[in-house]
Amino acid sequence: LFIAFEGGDGAGKSTQAQRLTAALQEAGRTVVRTREPGGTPVGEQLRSLVLEHGNGEIDARTEALIFAASRAAHVAQVIRPAVERGSVVVCDRYIDSSVAYQGSGRSLGTEEVRQLNIWATEGFTPDLTVLLDVDPEQGRLRRTAGDAPEDRMESEPDAFHLRIRRTFLEQATTDPGHYLVLDAARPVDELAGAVLARVLELLP
Ligand code: C5P
Repeated sequence: LFIAFEGGDGAGKSTQAQRLTAALQEAGRTVVRTREPGGTPVGEQLRSLVLEHGNGEIDARTEALIFAASRAAHVAQVIRPAVERGSVVVCDRYIDSSVAYQGSGRSLGTEEVRQLNIWATEGFTPDLTVLLDVDPEQGRLRRTAGDAPEDRMESEPDAFHLRIRRTFLEQATTDPGHYLVLDAARPVDELAGAVLARVLELLP
């Protein structure tokens, strides 16, 4: 089973991925928790490459290709093998993030970026995507209040973050059976409970 967490910066994806992992492990499941960009030695290097170079240093197409390359390695080396072994894979960000950030945020075109990523992953898609829908302003406040490091997206204008939020929601709307959309402003425990209930329905 393959579960992806998606949402804007400060949505609480890492917290929820961690909560779900812990709950499934307690129920005796083997869980592989991973993240994008990253997840493999090559992927982690690609992640540093993108995150260390500020806006403007990497053009949009290069950025999209680096994320897609990181994802190709991640699927081939980590995600697909783990799912085939019968593990539950819990992944922080996946294709929807690229469609939202590079396709919409960077205006490369959502359909083009989706196709690039379908090619990169040989069409390997999550059984369930949990979208933590966050108001960009709330997300920003949360990130500054917590211990999350400053990230390069914080300097982007509000319109950029609003486009990203809208594109995340649009993707969920086109394939509702594979999505759980939750308001990220709800209490952490409530969100964790809703996610776990849905995932348990999917487990054999
Ligand atoms: O998920 P995390 O916050 O670790 O992501 C690191 C950074 O990469 C964030 O600023 C996020 O907005 C950005 N990102 C991106 N395009 C993606 C995935 C993440 O610009 N496809």
